[in-house]
Amino acid sequence: MATRPDYYKTLGVDKKATPDEIKKAYRKLARQYHPDRNPGNKDAEARFKEISQAHDVLGDPEKRKQYDSGSGPFATGAGPGGGFGGFGNFDFDASSMGDILSNLFGGAGPGAGTRGGRGGRQRVRPERGADLEAQVSISFDQAVSGAQVPLQVPMQATCDTCHGTGAKPGTTPTVCPRCEGRGVETQGQGAFSISTTCSQCGGSGTIIEDPCPTCHGSGAVRTIKRLRVNIPAGVRDGSRIRIAGKGEPGRRGGPPGDLYLITHVTPSPVFKRKGDNFEIEVPLTIPEALRGAEVQVPTLNGSKTLRVAPGTAHGTVQRLRGEGPPKLNSGSPPQRGDLHYRFVIDVPKELSSDQQSAVEEMSKVFNGDPRAKLFASSGASDARTASEAGDGTA
Ligand SMILES: [Zn+2]
Ligand SMILES: [Zn+2]
Repeated sequence: MATRPDYYKTLGVDKKATPDEIKKAYRKLARQYHPDRNPGNKDAEARFKEISQAHDVLGDPEKRKQYDSGSGPFATGAGPGGGFGGFGNFDFDASSMGDILSNLFGGAGPGAGTRGGRGGRQRVRPERGADLEAQVSISFDQAVSGAQVPLQVPMQATCDTCHGTGAKPGTTPTVCPRCEGRGVETQGQGAFSISTTCSQCGGSGTIIEDPCPTCHGSGAVRTIKRLRVNIPAGVRDGSRIRIAGKGEPGRRGGPPGDLYLITHVTPSPVFKRKGDNFEIEVPLTIPEALRGAEVQVPTLNGSKTLRVAPGTAHGTVQRLRGEGPPKLNSGSPPQRGDLHYRFVIDVPKELSSDQQSAVEEMSKVFNGDPRAKLFASSGASDARTASEAGDGTA
């Protein structure tokens, strides 16, 4: 009967999940249900919102603690910090009984103030603006170096005509006659009474008789806010960055919400992400692999010469420590991952006649059987039979 969403279930994690497990579960689901991957799919979009909301709460140690104990913004009647919608005003979960009682005894009594009074705490006091989420596409170089990017974020903003009051300029909202400004109404008596949001004023405690012509009384208008946001160095495809205070403006003097950016990074054809590091594939000619060489390789800010040892095998990796991508939020200057150069032997698909004769020459001197050791151990005779029979499944 609780209407509070089960965020653990949403993310498919255990109640005892570590922050890391929560982050992983979130990332996986967020990728799966991301609107960019599911264009026009309303179900995926709804699911993506649920997942984001669950991560907003469980990914923040403080909010998670409050959520687990049903306190703070997760108590009866208050909206969640995440801003995607309320929990329903009355949730008869045992954990929220304390707040129901405080509504019973504090809300309806004489003298309960319109501002700061316990009963009116639901909506009459300042309200924090909603958190927003936006997608940002950046280049590979911007992800590595950080960037300031322009962004257009649709959001509710305070109406300029009425400055958020909702009343036509020159008029003022009047005190709601039904709740007398408390924002709540009480049904029943004594210990069995229940306070609910006032049905006439919707909890604001005031009534607007002459609505503002611009916002039709809501005090807010949909706008597209143009921002320039700083993307920190080291973000990855799918990173989620919090920009404090850039969400929707607060109401009645409340603080603004936060803006969360999901970054989409154009992949580099050369530098491939491997955890904290980049891997770069470096082709070698057959003579370079055999005799060794000095080869030029790209770095994040130019190029370097690597010494390739004689007899370098295909797949050998050389590392340049600390020259890889910066680690997000690792201080200033940031810590950096490594660059891993993986040597691959470039085998031509077709040979010129000169190459053909060189290979002929080579085969005369490289004439051992490198596969002999495959058959040196026990079971060799079986293997030989199978291979001679051309039976690949043996
Ligand atoms: Zn009212
Ligand atoms: Zn207005």
